Amino acid sequence: MTANESSSSERQDRNQAAQRQLNCAQPQQLYSAELLRACQLLPKVELHAHLNGCVRPQTIKEILEERFRAGEALAVTEQQLKEVTVTASDRSLGKCFRLFDIIHAITTTHAAISRIACEVVRDFAADRTVYLELRTTPKSRPEYGMTKESYIEAVLQGVEQALEQLRQQRSTQPPPQPQQQQQEQESMEKQEAAMPSAQKGALATASPAEAASVPGTSAAAAAAAAASSYTSACCCPSAASIEEGLNGSGGEGGPGGCLPDVSEGQLGGGAGILVKLLLSIDRREDSRSAMETVELATRYRHRGVVGIDLSGNPSVGSWEVWQPPLAAARAAGLSITLHAGEVVAPRETAAMLAFRPDRLGHCCCLDSELGEQLRASAIPLELCLTSNLLTESVPSYPEHHFAELHAAGHPVVLCTDDSGVFGTTLSREYAIAAAAFNLPVAALHQLVRKSVEYTFASEEEKQRLRDVVERALAACI
Ligand SMILES: [Zn+2]
Repeated sequence: MTANESSSSERQDRNQAAQRQLNCAQPQQLYSAELLRACQLLPKVELHAHLNGCVRPQTIKEILEERFRAGEALAVTEQQLKEVTVTASDRSLGKCFRLFDIIHAITTTHAAISRIACEVVRDFAADRTVYLELRTTPKSRPEYGMTKESYIEAVLQGVEQALEQLRQQRSTQPPPQPQQQQQEQESMEKQEAAMPSAQKGALATASPAEAASVPGTSAAAAAAAAASSYTSACCCPSAASIEEGLNGSGGEGGPGGCLPDVSEGQLGGGAGILVKLLLSIDRREDSRSAMETVELATRYRHRGVVGIDLSGNPSVGSWEVWQPPLAAARAAGLSITLHAGEVVAPRETAAMLAFRPDRLGHCCCLDSELGEQLRASAIPLELCLTSNLLTESVPSYPEHHFAELHAAGHPVVLCTDDSGVFGTTLSREYAIAAAAFNLPVAALHQLVRKSVEYTFASEEEKQRLRDVVERALAACI
């Protein structure tokens, strides 16, 4: 390679890195504040969220500090702590898995697991998620007195605590009256207008003109159009309380007074959010360990465990190891979802499609033949835009395979994957999708409606969810 070629290729790399960083660090330039607000008010369904990936960075920091104070020697350096608590703009897949290793290393007590589960449920509720399927890998860590079973118990305890807190919050906060809602909305808009743009945080989105200046993306023009079409799209009440919940107090806050209750029975009971659990098999696990997880899932069905997920480092392990336990899970009546096509692995992806799971996650690296097989299968796909971008599974938001699959009518559902690690929310993913793919408000409503059908909830629960979603969407028109 000549010096000239080298400098030209370096320049290209630098340009690509700069573009990638722009796409990663400032996705909010793609959508307007109005669009994000409209998405925050949508009733939403989250079907692909990992418990440990959704942990608040501040919580990791606090747990770590607590354990340092207690004199515990932990294999986490200050630099590693920084990586967890600072939102990185360029996280490769390898870096993300290192982050998970850090989280894994410090979430070794039952109390920490319960706290994280509680906060994650509250955060989703504050983002107006009406149905959450949370997935987690039960861990056996004898050195910490933790068995897979005690791990599941700790998660359930945290979930139940969150639901109880949400129930109490909803019972003591009556729905705001129309006049009060109007005042809250006006006050919020005034406060926002008065803020310097640098302090507006997630709501500090660019004007359509600024969005249009984002280079190399067809979404720029779409953002301008989407912003104007959403400005008056949603007049659902309690906007202020939701904004407060999302932005004012570290993600806490209730789902707002205007949401009907969806959560009788099982894990809900008046909390405004129905929560189910999926137990994940980590790709590092052997057949025996995977089977143990399946048996536990069967045993915990009465507590809201509805299915099994296969996840973990996509470069590790072999499909033949997990196929028998997954078949046993299906035979036991559990639903199955698989992380598929995160890396190029045509043989494995083909085998996964042939297994016909109830849902698939990601499917970023499919060749045209596998893409055709996927479309023919009509298996619902969990798509996580920011996760796929930050882990470099897709080159940019507008080039995400969501566009093609959605246009082809393939069943898709927008999800966050790891909201804590990737610094996103489900509302934000909807806003990004609306802007990047130029989706009108009716298409967003349809995405929400359809996502109810892809849940692993019972038919009776789905019916309640359909009712709630329709009523909430009607309030948003
Ligand atoms: Zn995932």
